[in-house]
Amino acid sequence: MTSRSDIHFQRGVSLFDFQLQFGSENQCRKHLFQLKWPKGYSCPKCDNRQYYFTQSRNLYQCRNCRHQASLLAGTIFSSTKLPLTTWFLAIYLVSQSKEGCSALKLRRFLGISQTASMRLKHKLQMVMKLADDKRPLRGFVQIDDVYWGGKRPGGKRGRGAEGKTPFVAALQRDPKGHPTFIRFSRVESFSSSEMLRWGQKHLKPSTIVVSDGLACFKSFQDIGHFHYSVITSGRYNSPDFMVFDWLNTIIGNMKNKIKGTYHGIEQ
Ligand SMILES: [Zn+2]
Repeated sequence: MTSRSDIHFQRGVSLFDFQLQFGSENQCRKHLFQLKWPKGYSCPKCDNRQYYFTQSRNLYQCRNCRHQASLLAGTIFSSTKLPLTTWFLAIYLVSQSKEGCSALKLRRFLGISQTASMRLKHKLQMVMKLADDKRPLRGFVQIDDVYWGGKRPGGKRGRGAEGKTPFVAALQRDPKGHPTFIRFSRVESFSSSEMLRWGQKHLKPSTIVVSDGLACFKSFQDIGHFHYSVITSGRYNSPDFMVFDWLNTIIGNMKNKIKGTYHGIEQ
């Protein structure tokens, strides 16, 4: 199970309805079976469609070649000790909340240990990131450099501040200007070569990129994108620079969220 859509439940489903649909191991297994074999079981070795189900080991044995297939092999649920109902509920909690769900909240809600909760959340985040990375941004994309963490007394402020971790923040907008996808990527630095590498991985060809003019972003033009600079001189609040509104709001929200989650774990 490596796709975000696979683990993403329909937004807006109430917890009550969710539990009706996925409240038992059987229901969760049925759902996974549908995702893995949407046209019915098919033996991975010989394509035969007839099988025996061995209840004790949860294996599907081919009636033709006797190959045993596992429903959970190759998914984030393989070798887990947690019930599928716990995983499904965790996915629901992480994917339904706009604010996200801290490992501490997950632990309390699911009644599992802090270690299990952190491991579970980390796995879910990895799967979501892998799926996101497979889908390059396209169309109209705003981009900015962000620095997180590493507060040091007396350190430099702003770009390149010591000890801070550089991130690319990129926001894809639809033709009506609404934000559709956001991507935060940790980068080594804001050098032109690093931005070329980032652009090749995260942008579809011929994307229109708008930045605030940081020199390295101009390298997107070298790989076939259209790059426009809007020189803000830090005056993001000016009406002339409303183009960065959404991106700045989202960066602010993300910083608060990280702060909130961190405090949550500290409690
Ligand atoms: Zn077979």
